[in-house]
Amino acid sequence: MQNKSEIRKIINKLASEQTLSQSEFICLLEDESEENRRFLAEKADEKRRTVFGNSVYIRGLIEISNICCNDCYYCGLRCSNSKADRYRLSESQILDCCDKGYEMGFRTFVLQGGEGAYWDDEKLVVLIEEIKRKHEDCAVTLSLGERSNESYQALYDAGADRYLLRHETATKVHYEWLHPGDMSFDNRMECLKNLKEIGFQTGCGFMVGSPGQTLDMLACDLMFIKEFQPQMVGIGPFLPATDTPFAEKPAGSVDMTLKLLSIIRLMNPRVLLPATTALGTAREDGRALGIQAGANVIMPNLSPADTRKKYSIYDNKLATGVEAAEGLAKLRLEMEKIGYKVEISRGDYPSLL
Ligand code: SAM
Repeated sequence: MQNKSEIRKIINKLASEQTLSQSEFICLLEDESEENRRFLAEKADEKRRTVFGNSVYIRGLIEISNICCNDCYYCGLRCSNSKADRYRLSESQILDCCDKGYEMGFRTFVLQGGEGAYWDDEKLVVLIEEIKRKHEDCAVTLSLGERSNESYQALYDAGADRYLLRHETATKVHYEWLHPGDMSFDNRMECLKNLKEIGFQTGCGFMVGSPGQTLDMLACDLMFIKEFQPQMVGIGPFLPATDTPFAEKPAGSVDMTLKLLSIIRLMNPRVLLPATTALGTAREDGRALGIQAGANVIMPNLSPADTRKKYSIYDNKLATGVEAAEGLAKLRLEMEKIGYKVEISRGDYPSLL
């Protein structure tokens, strides 16, 4: 345990050098002082303002299917969960969501879903091309899991701009603890490397407080992010999902998530960093706190209202109020109240040029 001035020194070092040693990361993570966490958040907010001002980017999230062939122990959509009420949106439903989102002011659409054979390259290429034809000033982000390099290349060539694939944990034994034997840590890391090489704005990330996670592992996640230099990082607290092997495990900490958001902002000032739905679900003001801690992206739900409840990756997932795309006016007000402005733009990763 370090004293206050030592922790402040570590925070100032992170702000100026954009990195820390593993032991310094661990000191920062184990420090429980609320005052220090606020100091860290102030530093992170200062840094995000130098790059993004007070802008908050919005993304319209379309949950295209909850059918999944994977069996991740933490996820409510896992294929062994026979209680999940499965659905798949049609191509025309997805295009309708984009049209509706465009009217509302969204200029990025995020297509996220479970994995499996249905969404082959042929179908996705047609869909991506059609979205880009109808909305040429919009970005398309995909979050459709692990695919071959050829598949990623085809989706990029069709016009997809960004790809989110959380690494989930940078520690192989922990990965094996969270996933069944047919899922491979090495393949996930290979996918991330391929995505970045192809030219996608690439996002990695992890759940905070996932079962078995230690502070050492979190420090490894931070060091992985530092080395990988993703354009986006998605983190949120682990939240238990009924009818999964981890249903009785405790939820991850909101404070730790906020601390990590601030650290990631200071490590990579230009990163696109969402205040996630999981953070908003864990605590009513979680999303606002996330923005104040250095996040600069919010992803309201644009899926058809009747499917939102079915995309139940964890219990009580928010999909109404400011979490819903229809709540954009309210979200704007909520952001203005804390000194930020929702921006209508694609909100790309800023290049250095
Ligand atoms: N299949 C795609 C993939 O694996 O990237 C996208 C869908 S997957 C449901 C999206 C993310 O949800 C995962 O990367 C995981 O981090 C998060 N997630 C799943 N179950 C969760 C839980 N119980 N609590 C918090 N986040 C969860």
